[in-house]
Amino acid sequence: MSRVYNFSAGPATLPVEVLEKAQAEMLDWQDSGMSVMEMSHRGSAFVSIAEDATARLRRLLNVPDDYSVLFLQGGAAGQFAGVPLNLMGHSQIADYVVTGNWGKKAIKEAGKYGEARLAASGEADGFTSIPPVADWQLSSDAAYVHYTPNETIQGVEFQETPDVGNAPLVADMSSDFLSRPVDVSKYGVIYAGAQKNAGPAGITMVIVRNDLLEQAQAACPMVLDYKQQRDADSMLNTPACYAWYICGLTFEWLENQGGLEAIEKINIRKASKLYDFIDGSDFYRNPVDPAVRSRMNVPFLLADDALNKTFLAQAEDAGLSTLKGHRSVGGMRASIYNAMPESGVDALIEFMRAFEKDNG
Ligand SMILES: *Cc1c(COP(=O)(O)O)cnc(C)c1O
Repeated sequence: MSRVYNFSAGPATLPVEVLEKAQAEMLDWQDSGMSVMEMSHRGSAFVSIAEDATARLRRLLNVPDDYSVLFLQGGAAGQFAGVPLNLMGHSQIADYVVTGNWGKKAIKEAGKYGEARLAASGEADGFTSIPPVADWQLSSDAAYVHYTPNETIQGVEFQETPDVGNAPLVADMSSDFLSRPVDVSKYGVIYAGAQKNAGPAGITMVIVRNDLLEQAQAACPMVLDYKQQRDADSMLNTPACYAWYICGLTFEWLENQGGLEAIEKINIRKASKLYDFIDGSDFYRNPVDPAVRSRMNVPFLLADDALNKTFLAQAEDAGLSTLKGHRSVGGMRASIYNAMPESGVDALIEFMRAFEKDNG
């Protein structure tokens, strides 16, 4: 068997240790005589798996007691609707800060359920920077302020939690969830699809402050209703059992790495190496404002677009997979989530250096 370094933006690489444990437990989970995929979600075995994963996530993020942790379906895109349906409440107004493609999708979807106002946008400069918080046009009557801490496609990431005053802050944290410590108490809602940095596709974590649970619109589908799902331990209907289990194994792996402070140090080191190399070269470039460059998704362009195909083919041959950039940005993108080992970043840099020498 040979595993490549997989730079996919999502679904993305998982820790080998997680896959090996899942493999070892595949046919017979802890003497239950069955696979996790075959268990009743109401049985004691799966309930213990779900509770263990939830407890680990609470520990990793230091989730305060007055917050609920949900494991839902429908992806982060489902939450583009779930957030307004649960939170818009009486005012029917929410503010959106758009710093890339995902924020654009979020505000568009929210507009179906109420008035989603554009409070700030980075589109004028191609989403390569983040408008300063002081310039945001926040509404006094907004039910919440929504933003995207890390824009997966453009590679721009907030380095701090923005202060938006009294309105609950809502974050689509899909692509930098669990990559660094976060003060959950600063947020009303945090949501994240698992398939970037926390597990496989099919499950979405929602962390919601309990005082925000009671305001769902009448038309909110029950599977998206935070209060109903909280009361049912996220099992109002059959949950994504296997994905939940793999998330639990990934959380366990993170705890074994030393938790979020430890993984953040590694993530800073990995990203700095790659950006330093790109900045030091005349052949590669990254267009993003250095103050807001993502530690998770690193887009870069070659000096000559005509070389893109050759670059990708030779990278693939060198065991460096899925480096093609998103079509809206072009060039390349290296996603270097928690599970990408530092040796993968080193191998990428060595490859880029050699490619530049041959083609520069
Ligand atoms: C991938 C991604 C999404 C979409 O996630 P789905 O689970 O496919 O709905 C939304 N927001 C961000 C920031 C993402 O990276």
